[in-house]
Amino acid sequence: MYKRFLNSLLFIAIIILGWQYPLLGYFIPFCMLAGIAIGLSAGRKWCDWYCPRGSFYDALMRPLSAQRGIPGLFKNIYFRIGVLFFLMLVMAINLILRWPNPYHIGKFFVSLLTLTTAAGIILAIIFHQRSWCSFCPIGTVINLISRGKESLRINSERCVECKICFKACPMQIKPYLFKGKGMEPVKEADCLRCGSCVASCPTKALTLEGKQKYT
Ligand code: SF4
Ligand code: SF4
Repeated sequence: MYKRFLNSLLFIAIIILGWQYPLLGYFIPFCMLAGIAIGLSAGRKWCDWYCPRGSFYDALMRPLSAQRGIPGLFKNIYFRIGVLFFLMLVMAINLILRWPNPYHIGKFFVSLLTLTTAAGIILAIIFHQRSWCSFCPIGTVINLISRGKESLRINSERCVECKICFKACPMQIKPYLFKGKGMEPVKEADCLRCGSCVASCPTKALTLEGKQKYT
C-alpha cells in the first residue's frame, strides 16, 4: 500500500504544480505511452499501482467511496470506445489549435488531467473508487491489445463459489464465472494482475502466472 500512497502524493503534486508549471502536463502522454508499452506484455498491470491516478483512487479514495457496484455501462466496450474516441478528438483539436506552443499544450494536458480526475473522484464517491478505471481511455486501449493474454487461472475443482475473490477485486471481476472442468483462464482483459483475489481465496483456487515478474 505504501507504493500506492507515494504514487498518490506524486499525482497530487503534478496536478497542483501543473497549473504553475504547464510542462508537467506532459505527464499525460507519458502515462499513455508507458501504460500501452507495459500493456503489450503485461495487460493492465500498469493500472494496478504504476499508474499514479490508479494509486490515488485506491489509496486515498477508497475510504471515501460508497463501495457500490460499478455501473454496467462503464464496462460496456462500446461506451468505452466512445469515450476513447471523444477524448482523442478533444485532444487532437486542442493540439492543432495550440500548436506549436509547448506551454499552451501543457496547460491543456493539465486541464484535461484535472477535469477527468475530478469526474473520477465524483464517481469514486458515488459508486466505487475504480469507476473511472473501468472506462479510462488508456485502460480501454490496453484491454483491446491484451485480450487473450490473461494470466489469471482458476482451478475449477477447488472453487466453492464463495465469491470472496469478487469482494477483494478492485475491478469487481468475478473469477468464479470462468469455472470449467479443470484449470481455466479467467478471460477478463481488465484484470490488473494485482493478486488480491489470489491472496483472498480460502481454497487456493486462483493462480496468477508471471506475477513475480511484474511486482
Ligand atoms: S474466493 Fe476462491 S473459492 Fe471463493 S469464489 Fe473465488 S475462486 Fe472460488
Ligand atoms: S488479479 Fe484478481 S483481484 Fe486483481 S484485478 Fe485481477 S481478478 Fe481482480
